[in-house]
Amino acid sequence: MRVHHLDCCTMCPRGQSAVNGEGSLFARAKLVSHCLLIETDAHGLVLVDTGIGVDDIRATRRLGPFFGRAMAIDATKTDMPALPQVEALGFRREDVRHLVLTHLDFDHAGGLPDFPQAKVHVHAKEKDAALARATFNQKQRYRLLQFVHGPTWETYEALGEPWKGVPAVRQLEGLPPEILALPMPGHSRGHAAIAVDTGHEWLVHGGDAYFHRSVTKRGDASGMPWALRGIERLIAFDYKSVRANHTIFAELAKHDDVTIFSSHDPVEYERLRAASGERTLSPLRHAADDFAPRQFGPGEGR
Ligand SMILES: [Zn+2]
Repeated sequence: MRVHHLDCCTMCPRGQSAVNGEGSLFARAKLVSHCLLIETDAHGLVLVDTGIGVDDIRATRRLGPFFGRAMAIDATKTDMPALPQVEALGFRREDVRHLVLTHLDFDHAGGLPDFPQAKVHVHAKEKDAALARATFNQKQRYRLLQFVHGPTWETYEALGEPWKGVPAVRQLEGLPPEILALPMPGHSRGHAAIAVDTGHEWLVHGGDAYFHRSVTKRGDASGMPWALRGIERLIAFDYKSVRANHTIFAELAKHDDVTIFSSHDPVEYERLRAASGERTLSPLRHAADDFAPRQFGPGEGR
């Protein structure tokens, strides 16, 4: 299986030292939305997480009144979502047959409307929480606009044999056994990590189960930049489970045949993107230093 590492939502908020743990507090930080595009032999293309969508970049207000501006998403980068990146690799929208989501927060599920024919694999509890939006927390994190087209859901819940000691869903409907879901509620109600056997190693997409690579060494949040640590706690569905997941990732990181990464850590992303031998699609998109935000007109971004 060939795996492409894509960043489908670059964010450059202020507060570099508080977010990235280096540089100045007044400089711009960088966060990515790390997605995988997997070429399978018999199951078409599989996208693991989708970042934000084509409509979201056209109107970042879809993501909420403040998010686009606070996170400094550059709306001029219309090639940022997964769909234009899939097309730039020479594929068509229809070639993407499966979307496997770590969870349905709006910075992960924005691509659902761009691949309406694809099956959407997600934990049953996550789908229920996202569509019900019953609590204040859920109203903030899920956007119905990303689901109104009526996705074809393939929910899962039942566990199979554990994978390297971690509870695992072994058979995702219509997907090869090389792609597993590792349910890890905590960040959200039905959050899961996604493990992919590439043939020579396991890649584990941790989603938002942790926010900063220091967690994989320490097994806790003690090495995280303070703003990330605060946000992780603030938006957690169950912070106790978030902490337990940190420990799991530190254990997984000890395996020689496992490479783990999270959604938003730019260092993990750039390392894996470079190792995959792929060129950077747009140098600007990957360089926070060169970031030049669009000037918002009156009434925009609110
Ligand atoms: Zn996220």
